[in-house]
Amino acid sequence: MLLKRILESARLNLIKIAVAEKDAAYSYLDLLDAVTQFQAKIAEEATSSRPVLVFGRNDFLMLAAMLGAMLSGRAYVPVDAHTPDERLEMIVAASKPSLIFSTAELTDAQRGLFSAFTHVEMRTFEKTADFDVARVDTSNAVSADKIAYIIYTSGTTGVPKGVAVSVRNLETFSDWMISDFEQIKENQILEQPPYSFDLSIFSIYPSLLTAGTLVSLSKDETSNFKLLFERLNTTVINTWISTPSFVDIFLLDPSFTQENHPALTQFIFCGEELTHKTAEKLLAKFPSATVYNTFGPTEATGAISSVKITPEILESYGRLPIGKAKPGVSLHILDGEIIISGNSVATGYFENPEKTAAAFFMLAGMPAYHTGDAGFIDEKGQLNYQGRLDFQVKFNGYRIELQDIEAHLIALSSVNQAIVLAKENDQHKVTALIAVLVADKPSALTEREFSKMLKGELAKTLMDYMMPTKFVYRSELPLNQNGKIDRKRLEAEIL
Ligand code: AMP
Repeated sequence: MLLKRILESARLNLIKIAVAEKDAAYSYLDLLDAVTQFQAKIAEEATSSRPVLVFGRNDFLMLAAMLGAMLSGRAYVPVDAHTPDERLEMIVAASKPSLIFSTAELTDAQRGLFSAFTHVEMRTFEKTADFDVARVDTSNAVSADKIAYIIYTSGTTGVPKGVAVSVRNLETFSDWMISDFEQIKENQILEQPPYSFDLSIFSIYPSLLTAGTLVSLSKDETSNFKLLFERLNTTVINTWISTPSFVDIFLLDPSFTQENHPALTQFIFCGEELTHKTAEKLLAKFPSATVYNTFGPTEATGAISSVKITPEILESYGRLPIGKAKPGVSLHILDGEIIISGNSVATGYFENPEKTAAAFFMLAGMPAYHTGDAGFIDEKGQLNYQGRLDFQVKFNGYRIELQDIEAHLIALSSVNQAIVLAKENDQHKVTALIAVLVADKPSALTEREFSKMLKGELAKTLMDYMMPTKFVYRSELPLNQNGKIDRKRLEAEIL
């Protein structure tokens, strides 16, 4: 149904803009055309019904390739073009795609890596002359419990895990977004994160289902403040969807106000804690906008709870609540941990029964997931978040297992032991990742030069957002009574 609904809506809105990029705009007619081209390529070239890996930079073609994969009855695996080669290799090896589409320019190493698979490069969109919208064929589209997409997230051993989300998961999430949040006509929706992150589905699917426009930002823009401010100051946005860290950048700009952005009436946050400070500043600058805090892991499809942050909520909560469950989802607190059950819980980690069994289970006949988040439900029925029960953190909005970074550090020949600590501010926000190392530093190098060298080596395997911000060297690491590295003591000494 999901694909049929998206394509039906597209057919009724052919001239509307589906995707607005910095220098180009694509209509729903263009989208139908491009999707059909990808679908045809898959029919011609795919070696099996396994997933299609889509490699790109959040552009229009990447989106069309993702939809084309689903239309052909295959799950898509979105991978950002900035992924380091070693990580890319792991994702390719784990997903064993039937076809790889790349919509971004490739390095020789990336091309080499893809050469073991059927690989199609599609970097430009060529309109089909006299494209007939009736040609779009939905008869093989993924539906119901089939996997819609597989998103790879940070794994504790350094190997990413692929969260497999079904069409039903995705459709119930999208319908909730459409019914629960403000519906704006001709909605222009900000699309900030890479498509390889779960947060991107908040913008993509509700927008496609309601003939909205995705205002998509490229990595070039999000990593260059000048370009970013220029783009946002010259583009109309009605619905802002991002991590709180992303809006923090704009809150520093005095011109980011309701007066200067009168069309911007709705903010939806997810992915990390929305601090009291951020919400307060935002409401002061946009007093008549609605601000939602939503919560959920990739494993439960986007978000499963939401709360409108009003001046009353700001007044009555020190740490903001994360809301009430969406329909079809139940929240439970078991031994202090937030457990999610219901129709949003993903099908598990793709072809990884061990990791799936460790986190997913059945609860009262419904699929359930251990979030690893500590929390409680208060007397008003609001879920409250109290931090993690493990070593997963959010840094600048990105989900990171500290052990993932440690595994990559220990793999370096000059590193003998590694612990990564997350420094938090008084709003529980991680502000630095500090790597504490026992390492063989060549005597010719200063610590600073050595750190630079380690960073260079790490960059080959580690996503840039996981890079430690500081390196601290020790001749040995303290042990606790159980003979394990004493993190608590290191935290007390270093943070
Ligand atoms: P991800 O899979 O990247 O969406 O990360 C999910 C994790 O992010 C959750 O398990 C929480 O630890 C954290 N998270 C997501 N949304 C919120 C929120 N609104 N408040 C606090 N933490 C959040």
